[in-house]
Amino acid sequence: ELDWRGKHVTVAGLGVSGIPAARALAARGAVVTVVNDGDDERSRAQAAELEAAGITVRLGDGATLPAGTELIVTAPGWQPDKPLFAAAAEAGVEVWGDVELAWRLRGPDAAPWLAITGTNGKTTTTRMLASILEAAGLRTAAVGNIGVSLLDAVLGDEKYDVLAVELSSYQLHWAPSVRAHSAAVLNLAPDHLDWHGSMEAYAADKGRIYEGNQVACVYNVADPLTEDLVREADVEEGCRAIGFTLGTPGPSQLGVVEGILVDRAFVENRQKNAQELAEVADVRPPAPHNIANALAAAALARAFGVEPQAVRDGLRAFRPDPHRIELVEEVGGVTYVDDSKATNTHAAEASLAAYDPIVWIAGGLAKGATFDELVEKSAKRLRGVVLIGADRALIREALARHAPEVPVVDLDRTDTGAMSEAVREAARLARPGDTVLLAPACASMDMFTNYNKRGEAFADAVRALAATGDA
Ligand code: ADP
Repeated sequence: ELDWRGKHVTVAGLGVSGIPAARALAARGAVVTVVNDGDDERSRAQAAELEAAGITVRLGDGATLPAGTELIVTAPGWQPDKPLFAAAAEAGVEVWGDVELAWRLRGPDAAPWLAITGTNGKTTTTRMLASILEAAGLRTAAVGNIGVSLLDAVLGDEKYDVLAVELSSYQLHWAPSVRAHSAAVLNLAPDHLDWHGSMEAYAADKGRIYEGNQVACVYNVADPLTEDLVREADVEEGCRAIGFTLGTPGPSQLGVVEGILVDRAFVENRQKNAQELAEVADVRPPAPHNIANALAAAALARAFGVEPQAVRDGLRAFRPDPHRIELVEEVGGVTYVDDSKATNTHAAEASLAAYDPIVWIAGGLAKGATFDELVEKSAKRLRGVVLIGADRALIREALARHAPEVPVVDLDRTDTGAMSEAVREAARLARPGDTVLLAPACASMDMFTNYNKRGEAFADAVRALAATGDA
């Protein structure tokens, strides 16, 4: 255990990770300064509470490195090219994220981590994994990027046998020494490129999750980039590469045979060539991308020694979170589906592939993405498109290139109320039997606080439409 007494630590960002980090460090005797870009009423209230605990807070200045800083603990979202980090590099000061701090502060008999990252499917897979581990009678929790602080889980009084840990590419960027029992990269598609700087840098940060794995590095057979990352990782001796596929599995793979999820990687009975785990119908929703998520969760659980029966029970007990391909209502024969969580093109592609014909509601913050591939692949299924949000021109231009015949309603609005107009326009374009799908392929922050709020606005608008009966 590190001796924190008298150590000068700068915590970057007052927020869900910064506040508990500052408190945990101060409690261990560190001299803590929190720096924060914003200086609003909320941050002033938070600052007052921290100052009462002996922590210094500098509001409205997240760029200057406080003199004497020996370590920075940053909120994961802080972009690496910020001046604070340039100053830290110059001064030879190490930077940890919230996950690194949790890793370093965990106790000697702490629970091992089963870690999950990927462009899409992280939260779903992490919850599925926790459900399977619970079904196996293990004390566990789904933590990390999922909204439950790793620091709280690691420092809390509750005892765990194993943790199901969702890690974002940001968190991995700032987590140099984390070593998982086993880890999975679900898929890799361009996302957050503005933050990471390039696809290579993004992939390298995701690949960090495999570093030092003890038992298994789980990769997606259909996404060779994930297997490349396994190959490049430095792992413990005996750690295996385990693939998952929607097809028939090869050796050291999990896959699907005649509607059954099967495991050819962890087979106890040597007479048997494969171990049956669950049926496709046990997975909710049984969409192909979600079967892939279930296989990844199963692979991690099996790497931890969980029995096949618990995999099935855990998958059956699992319920998806809101705003992930969620059926809202049927109005006038048209089905309204909320996939507000489709915040990038890769996720939107998965849900657009599940319906036909579609009236697609899209747009928001593109985060540096391009839309040609998505539009090209989905063009045939589009009845019409309604565009909202700041970067909608990028989608409109891709539609003009690859789907010139599809009618497009371009709402020149970025206010919150735009969603009801978008739903009304979509209803006008739709015919009975169609699906109106909110799968924005973009982040929500231009119009909403987050994707939850965006999904709720959509669902409210659909219910208002149902109430007025004009569909
Ligand atoms: P994350 O935590 O990585 O954002 P979620 O499990 O919350 O992932 O799912 C986000 C969205 O991504 C879902 O709404 C769905 O549209 C899509 N999705 C889920 N799993 C996959 C997958 N394996 N491949 C592609 N898209 C997926």
